Parts: sequence; C-alpha cells; structure tokens
Amino acid sequence: MKNKSHIKKKFALVCSFLFLICSQALAGQKIHTVFFEGEENELHVYRINGTKPGKTLLIIGGIQGDEPGGFLAADFYADFMLEKGNLIVVPRANFPSILKKGRKINQDMNRKFLDDNISNYEARVVNVLKKLICESDSFLNLHEGSGIYSDKWENKNKNPNRFGQSIITDDSILKRGDLGEDIYLEEMAQKVIEKINQHIENKDLFFHFNNHKTNHPDSIHKEQLRSATYYAYHICKIPAFGIESAKFLPLEQKVRQHIYAINAFMEILDIIPQTPGIDLEKPEMQYMIISVNDSIPVVVEKMQRLKINKGDTIQIHNIVANYERGLSVDVIGLGNQFNDMKKKLIINESTRIEAKKDFYKCGSVFLDIDSKSVRQLTVTDSSDTPTLRYKLRINGQLKIVNNYEHVKIHRGDKLVIEDILAGSVDPSKYIVNFKGFVGNHQNNSGEDRGYVIDTAKGVLMERYSLNKKGRHYYVLTTLRGKKVGKIFIDIQPYAS
Ligand SMILES: [Zn+2]
Repeated sequence: MKNKSHIKKKFALVCSFLFLICSQALAGQKIHTVFFEGEENELHVYRINGTKPGKTLLIIGGIQGDEPGGFLAADFYADFMLEKGNLIVVPRANFPSILKKGRKINQDMNRKFLDDNISNYEARVVNVLKKLICESDSFLNLHEGSGIYSDKWENKNKNPNRFGQSIITDDSILKRGDLGEDIYLEEMAQKVIEKINQHIENKDLFFHFNNHKTNHPDSIHKEQLRSATYYAYHICKIPAFGIESAKFLPLEQKVRQHIYAINAFMEILDIIPQTPGIDLEKPEMQYMIISVNDSIPVVVEKMQRLKINKGDTIQIHNIVANYERGLSVDVIGLGNQFNDMKKKLIINESTRIEAKKDFYKCGSVFLDIDSKSVRQLTVTDSSDTPTLRYKLRINGQLKIVNNYEHVKIHRGDKLVIEDILAGSVDPSKYIVNFKGFVGNHQNNSGEDRGYVIDTAKGVLMERYSLNKKGRHYYVLTTLRGKKVGKIFIDIQPYAS
C-alpha cells in the first residue's frame, strides 16, 4: 500500500495572498490512497474530511464491473469537498471487471465477504473494503439491478426476486446491542426513497424498499450472506444499503438516481457538502505541447529544454496543469504582452516559456537555439547554466551578465531585465528586484523582469542608490525569501 497523501491544505494560498494570518489549524483535507499500485486491480480510496467533524459515509461503486450507473456516480464524490462530516469513496472497487465490462473476473466480488479461503485479487480487495466498512458510520453499495423490484408478483420483470429501482437492506432494524441504539434501516431507506421518487415522473419506475431479510430462515436471498452490506450489518454493525438502479434505464438516469440517493443519505447523516467545493491546490504545470515549423507537436515537460534552430517558428498549442482554466503562456521577450498561447512566433534567441494559472507562475520550459543545425526535434533535461546569470537588454541589445558583475550603462539608457538563467531551478521561482524601480505599481511584488527601466533622471528612486547619489544601483535576486544573487548597475552621465 502506498499513501499518496494528496493532502490539500486549503486556504493556504489565500492566506499568503491576502497577507492574512491564518493561525488556526487548516481543517478540511482530502487523502488519496492507492492500494496494489501498478497491479491490474489497483484500488483507489479517497477520504474527504469536512472542516467540521461528523459522521463518515462509505460509498463503494464498481464492485461489479457491468454496473456503470453506480461507479460513475461514486466518481463524482471523489472530488467532493465537505463542510461537515466525512466521506470515504471507492469509485471502482473491482477495476478489472470494469475494464472487461463484466460482473466478475474470478469470483463475484460481492459474494466474497464471508471467508471462502479462495485467494485471488478479489479476496485482497475485499480485505481492504472490510476495513473501510468497519471504519465508517454508514455504507452505500452502488449497483444496477435487473428488472424492477416489487413486493408482489406483477410479471417476470417486476417481482420480489428483481433488484432494480430499490434500496436493499439486510433487515428492517439493525440491533446494535452494546454498541448503541438500534438503527431503523427501513425508516432511513424510506426517507431516501421519497426523495428519489420526487425526481421520477413515471410511477412504474418508483424506487421501493427491498428487505432481503438475509439471515431469516425463509429469506429468498441467502446468497446475500456473502455480500458487503451483510458484512457491514452483521460484523461492523453499521447501517448499510444497496442502491439499485434498473439496468435497462439510460445511463444518465441511473447515475442521477444514485446521486439523489447519496445526497439524501448524506442529509440524514448530517454530512454537509461545500457547494462549490473550494480546493486551492498550488498550481503546477506538467507539460506544454509545442510545435516547431508546423511539425507534429511535441510534449515538453516542466524544466525541459527543446532544441531548435535560429529562425524556427514555434506555436504553443496547449499546456497541461492541475487546473483546466485560467491558463496562459508567456514567451519571454517575445509575442503579446499577456498571453502567447497558440500564437506563431519566430525564435531567434534562446528563451524561456513561462506558464501561468491566472497570475500564479506555475512552470517553465526552455527553447534553446543550437549552434549546430538541429535536424530532429530533441527534448533534454540538462542545462549548461549551473550558476545564476542575467539576461539583460540595454537599448534593445542583448547582454548576458554573471552574478555579482557590474553593468555599466549611460543615463537615459533603457534597461530590461529580461530573465535570469538559473540552471536546474525554475527561473519563475525567483524574484528579481531592481532596487529603486517599481514595475507594477498596483501590486509591487518586487518582481521587475520584463519591464522597461528608463534610467533617465527622475525615474529611479535615488534613495535606493549607493550614497543616495543616483549613480549606483543594484538588482537583488531572491529565491523563496533567501538572497541568492546580485548585479550592480552603474549609471554614467549622459553619453556625449
Ligand atoms: Zn450489482
């Protein structure tokens, strides 16, 4: 088992952005755990904890792979955020059977909860599910059933042996003995059924309560002694329900019915969703899709370098990040002011492409002009710039400057700190600050790359210069608040 612990500390970004002091514990997290990683029966478990404590509801979908109404509904809840209470979501309990669109592979997984000493992947998955069931306060097993359940025989597709359009329990009451009060399963199910039926126009398709009376001597569903809900009922002593959409219905309707059922159970258990859920994960670009001279696009991952020839035309088609919206790219020193996505640009100098999600910088890739002619598009990870250097443009002329070097310019020159070259660290992670110049007056983050710095008298703030004489300035580079470099800008009198 590997715990990926995608714990998202919500509001952390908001806090730092609004300069608020968020002293209280950051509640509300999502933990994604992968069991049997890399195996065919990989099992994904999502634990969603609300900001306020409460009951835990377990939702299992896809225990039989040919019942998509259940597992597609469960899938939505894996992305939920909660205000109160907790969810444990297993959208695809039996992934191999889903891939095969079959009920089972070796054995019916929902008949494996009573030990049968047959060891297979189903048994291993069931062992995990058993633990999750006993950890929860309530459990929903999402299914599709054949025909329509009815307590009276109506016809061969609508009778007491059918499962569709019903909520199934193993008995009407769960007696808990020492564990606490008895739980009225039938009453809970009836409340939920009433809510689902409000959304169903055709009375013939109404949901009904279906008591399997699993351990009664006269039960017609003895096979359910081996089911997940009976395990929950009998061993963990928690209220457990099988939700059955009728197989023959359109997929969307089946999914919706499950969603109505889950929402109604959440309401009964006082588990309150966030609507919409706030999940401010740190934006991270994964890769860019770039074509060169209209070739088939290539994938360039974060911090990788694409070798091209001088004069090549590039086009960034898309970027893939942990967000879908608010994404843009900036080809440093070229193109539009704000966004160069899909724009064809001729590249004459090595440069960097910076990805952004809204105003957050979220990753870079590099375009390297090779001195030899490049015949084939190659993407590499290596960088020949181990130390910090600065890419300046003085009156339009490119100048590469080493860290701690002095740059002599004349009063009136126009200086642009176009970028830094920083080796293995993403240049967008740095702040490059010309002391005595403010690039963005609305939001002075200190970042001064990309602005035209006019050194004419009266533009720079002299109090930031050496001896306040307005002649010697410096550019300070920091990485996560730590000073990592500096260059000196020496301004000489107007050129004659
Ligand atoms: Zn089923």
